Amino acid sequence: MTASFKNFIAGDWIDGVSTVENRNPSDLTDLIGHFAQAGADQLEIALDQAQVAQSAWEGYGIERKYNVLMAIGTEMMARAEELGTLLAREEGKPKAEGKGEVYRAGQFFTYYAAETLRHMGESADSVRPDIEIDVRREAVGVVAIISPWNFPTATASWKIAPALCYGNAVVWKPANATPASAVALTEIIAKQDIPKGLFSLVMGAGSDVGQRLVESPKVNAISFTGSVPVGKGIATAAIQNLTKIQMEMGSKNALAVMDDADLDLAASLAAGGAFGGSGQKCTASSRLIVHASVHDEFVEKLVAATQKLKVGHALEDGTTIGPVVSERQLNENLRYAALGQSEGAELIIGGTRLDMPHDGYYMQPGIFVGSTNDMAINREEMFAPLAAVIKVDSYAEALHTVNDTNFGLTSGIVTTSLARASHFRRNARTGCVMVNLPTAGTDYHVPFGGRGDSSYGPREQGTAAAEFYTVVKTAYISSGTPF
Ligand code: NDP
Repeated sequence: MTASFKNFIAGDWIDGVSTVENRNPSDLTDLIGHFAQAGADQLEIALDQAQVAQSAWEGYGIERKYNVLMAIGTEMMARAEELGTLLAREEGKPKAEGKGEVYRAGQFFTYYAAETLRHMGESADSVRPDIEIDVRREAVGVVAIISPWNFPTATASWKIAPALCYGNAVVWKPANATPASAVALTEIIAKQDIPKGLFSLVMGAGSDVGQRLVESPKVNAISFTGSVPVGKGIATAAIQNLTKIQMEMGSKNALAVMDDADLDLAASLAAGGAFGGSGQKCTASSRLIVHASVHDEFVEKLVAATQKLKVGHALEDGTTIGPVVSERQLNENLRYAALGQSEGAELIIGGTRLDMPHDGYYMQPGIFVGSTNDMAINREEMFAPLAAVIKVDSYAEALHTVNDTNFGLTSGIVTTSLARASHFRRNARTGCVMVNLPTAGTDYHVPFGGRGDSSYGPREQGTAAAEFYTVVKTAYISSGTPF
């Protein structure tokens, strides 16, 4: 019998008004379970209890909060193999990457556990005599977290951990494509020493429970990661209630390969950055901007590196690229493979659906050459195992092309020139810049976010997260009548 999974609302596990089934994209005969969909009334209960619980949580004191966050992170790291396998089973990334993601997610909790103890304010003298000023950050209140399927555990964790650290209550709506990872994380949070209703899980469709959540005046802040159109819709809803928002959205990251680059390194960075996670990363290198003098040699090495990647079942040893997440995503990817060719780019390898022993959403990583930066395949986020090579004649043209996009999350350069690396670091208009490193792959203790259509609102992660999850209070204190 297939397992059914409930929502966690106001401290209780409860059935929804309906369920959705969740299948393994590596093997569609593998039914992972039926997952509850929260109703409108249930969402209201979660929000009402979150308001009550948030006040209680603020009174817990920093050491008790530290213990909660540390316990969550420690358990996630200890269970990374088990939970990473579940993640890989429902999302499709190779098991080792699933394990790595869960471990990293645990690190967000242990990092923010430590931050609870570093929650310091500032003090100042007033310009008026005998008055002191105390400046400190307080919780925003009830935070709605809306997370995507591509990093279902890590993205949610880098939002939930700081939200709780800084004293907020959380109502979490995960992507319906990856509910099992959401339930697993919630089970760990639910058993901690937290006020009833401090943390609620409300699974359901974005267009239903997600939309209700972002329209609610009971929500004080919304942290979202996903697509640009949905992000814009959320911003429109949020502004009606003047709700604080933080959004991480699409991208069109470029890796620039210069004429002085180590081409073996460049090919390995490009293949890993473009095709890792089946290209379903907001930090994926989907534009490869290559100096003409090394173009042909680079492409040859890139094709060789890509051919070494093994597409297969996410849970099988040796798989380096799993399936894409869904039929819809696969069809969209195949549409882009055709679109690039109709625009005049040449698809020299891959870009096709793969028939495998298991029925799943498998796709051969594809490389376009002869593409130009004005083509749709170089302007729109594809979220696919597809990369397009753009030939340029100089470093200046490469930098201009990197910056010629509506997005601005990450960019990278492969070069042995310190002068170029330094110039690129200063002049690339992206939130993250990588030198001789893949565009994908960031640390958990420093800010993460982008420019342009990629991000909106304060940065995530590191100490920068305090900007979003807190409000500043400035208190003036007089000792009253002088004695
Ligand atoms: P969406 O933006 O549709 O979904 C992201 C999250 O928002 C999900 O939890 C989704 O719920 C929820 N959501 C959807 N509609 C609403 C709404 N009206 N109100 C509130 N929440 C909502 O992205 P998709 O998952 O459909 O992916 C589509 C494309 O988005 C990808 O191909 C990629 O280009 C981009 N994307 C980018 C990501 C990034 O990291 N930059 C991450 C994920 C997607 P549900 O899925 O349950 O409907």
